[in-house]
Order: sequence, then structure tokens, then C-alpha cells
Amino acid sequence: MSEIKYKHLEKVRDLIETCYRCGDCRTAIRPLVGRYQVCPVREVIPVKWEPFFARGKIMLANGLLKGDIELSQELADIIFQCMICGSCKIVCNYSYHPSLLHPISQIMDHPKIWEALRAELVDAGFTIPRHSEILDYCQKNYNPYFENHEDRVNWIPKDKKFPKEAEYVLFTGCTEPYRMSDILQNLIKILDVANVNYTALGIDEWCCGSVALRTGNISLAKTLAKHNLDAIKKTKATHIITHCAGCYRTLKLDYPEILPDFNFKVLHVTELIQNLLENGQLKLINEIPKKVTYHDPCHLGRHAKIYDAPRYILNHIPGLEFIEMKRIKENSWCCGAGGGLKSGNPELAINIAKTRIEEALETSSEMLVTACPFCLRNLKDGVEELNSEKTIEVFDLLEIIVNSLE
Ligand code: SF4
Ligand code: SF4
Repeated sequence: MSEIKYKHLEKVRDLIETCYRCGDCRTAIRPLVGRYQVCPVREVIPVKWEPFFARGKIMLANGLLKGDIELSQELADIIFQCMICGSCKIVCNYSYHPSLLHPISQIMDHPKIWEALRAELVDAGFTIPRHSEILDYCQKNYNPYFENHEDRVNWIPKDKKFPKEAEYVLFTGCTEPYRMSDILQNLIKILDVANVNYTALGIDEWCCGSVALRTGNISLAKTLAKHNLDAIKKTKATHIITHCAGCYRTLKLDYPEILPDFNFKVLHVTELIQNLLENGQLKLINEIPKKVTYHDPCHLGRHAKIYDAPRYILNHIPGLEFIEMKRIKENSWCCGAGGGLKSGNPELAINIAKTRIEEALETSSEMLVTACPFCLRNLKDGVEELNSEKTIEVFDLLEIIVNSLE
């Protein structure tokens, strides 16, 4: 029996062969925005070459499977210029052309193909040097930020004690404890006001593995996931809550695939907060008299279909005027940070963010709100880089909620 050459790509061979090269993932037409380029990378790079949108990347994957091309650093440099944002998947699955609404199109999953391509490249030693440094560190210290593992708990206020067991367990991720501790402090304020029975993993939490999965190191992701599962089980929790959109996607969609005995309900904090508002455990009282628009994080929106909870919350804040951008929900424009692009190609990531900021400015909103630490950071960077006369402040949704609590 001949040896399988590409074990990751073989798993998605059906998907790769599903593509019939229609090109809808290059340009789409939507009622509110007219004709637009689907792939944010292709929209902002000067040379709009075929591999810089989904069809070309799938042709390259096909070329590998057929033996027409080989893995190379040149190929890695192309494949890693992608946020795994899923904009191409949405267009391919839900095109307005009725001819695409057939059973085959329902199985198309571009992020799965991109991750398989990356895993092949990484296994063969072709990667982005910055990604290798980050993952090497993460393997030894369980975070991708070059921080001491022990410092993961520094965000916890001195007077805060978490019980050993609880109904909900808070998964903090790495970005927030190490870089944006105010988000977690706002979150525990909200949970405490609403009397939620929760705990946190503290030092027992490791990176969720999202960074490893998106950048092609599957074995590291599995090691991290297995450890986290054991730690979560010890809390006897039935529900996992998280604010980070990357952690949410990983816990909700990847852990059940990686870990056969993963049996927890995973909630994004906006889903829990919506429940708390609906059953009266939480009340938003203070007026926030501002015009606000909302950016859908890709890992929360397109990947996990959480569109309504953040909007429900914003619409329940007294005095707040909520205004939608042109491209929203499944057609939302990526912030530019995901899939390792921010660490691997920061300039491209910021250029994509600038496009999103321009869209937010068109709404005349004073605040741009999101619910993901990666989006928050890259959109803030985008505002700074754009340096336009008209400006907008970028906020995390939890900050607005805390300001509106009684
Ligand atoms: S829209 Fe789908 S089927 Fe058409 S070229 Fe893109 S990936 Fe292939
Ligand atoms: S996932 Fe996003 S960035 Fe990657 S090819 Fe598709 S549309 Fe482009």
C-alpha cells in the first residue's frame, strides 16, 4: 500500500475537490453594499493575484494532492496571508445564485482547508518565523505572549477568591490575563452583580490552543486541549464561559473534535449576559447617550453564529443609539488580526483594520464596540494608523455594560 503523502490534506480532499472554480469567493454582490471583493487580503494588497483569495488557494491545495506542485516556503508565504476569517465560506455556501444551493455546497468549509494546508506546511518545516517562535514558547510556558506562566493569575483582584467547584467555569484565555486584564475585571464585576455561581481555572489554565490550530501545529493544540479538559473537569462545572472569541471558537467547535470526552456547554459571555438580562438577574440602568456601532468578530460571528446576543445587549442599554455598519453579521468585514496575520504580517493586518474603521466612521457613530480582544487591539491600531479628521473610539462591550450597571 502506498504511503499517504499529505495526511492533513487527505482529510479535506472532498472539500478541495468540491470547488468548481466559479470565482464567487473573489467578488460578491450584496443588496446593501453592491459589488465587493470577498477576501479582505485581496482587497487591500496591491497585486490581486489568484492565490490571494480562496479559489487560488484551493487550486494550490489541489495541485499538491495531484503532485503538480510541492510544499515550499514560497507557498507558505502565500497560504499564511489569510485570517481564516471565513468570508469565502459564507459566499460559497450561501451565494445568492440558486445554482449553488445544492447539497455539495453545504459541506464546503474553507477554514478547514486552510488549517490543513498550514499543518502540512508546518510539518514539512515551512512556516512563518514569528509563528515558530510563538509556538515554541507556548509549548514550554503555555502562553503565546512570552510571559511567565505563573503571571497568568496577576489580573485577579487581591480580595477575589474563586470556589473549587461551581456551575460555570470562566476560561480566561491568554490575551486578557496578560494584556487586557480590565476586560476580565469588568467581567467578574458583571457576574458578581448577577450572582452567577462561577469559578476560574487560575494557574491550571493553559493556552486554549487556538493559536496553534490556526497556524498549523496540531499536536501542540491537542496537548493544550487535553490539559485544559482535565482542569475543567476538576471544577465539576457544566458550563464553560469565555469572552475571547478565539477561545470560544476553539472550545465550542474544536475541542469536541479533538477530545472525544468533551461534554460541556460552552457559552460566550454575551450569551450568558443576554440570559441574565432576560431573567432579570442583571439590570442596565445608567444611560449611555452615545451613537454606537458593533463589529462582529469572525470567530464569534461567521464561525460560531453569535450575532444576536451582542446586539440584544446593546439594544438594552438605556440612551444608547445603535447603528449598524454596511457589512454585518455573516457578511461582516474582518478586523484583520486573526489566523496569525497580526503576528506574521502586522502591516497587512492594520491595512485591513483601516477599511473596517472607515466603514464604522460612515455610520457617524462615536463608539465602535466589539467583543473580542484581538479585534479590539487591531481596530484600535487601525484608528491610530488611519489618523483621520473624523475619529471613533473603540471599546469592549463589557466596559459599556459595567458603565450601565445600577
Ligand atoms: S465560491 Fe466556492 S466553489 Fe466557487 S471558486 Fe470559490 S471556493 Fe470554489
Ligand atoms: S478566510 Fe478570509 S482571508 Fe482567508 S481566503 Fe477566505 S476570505 Fe480571504
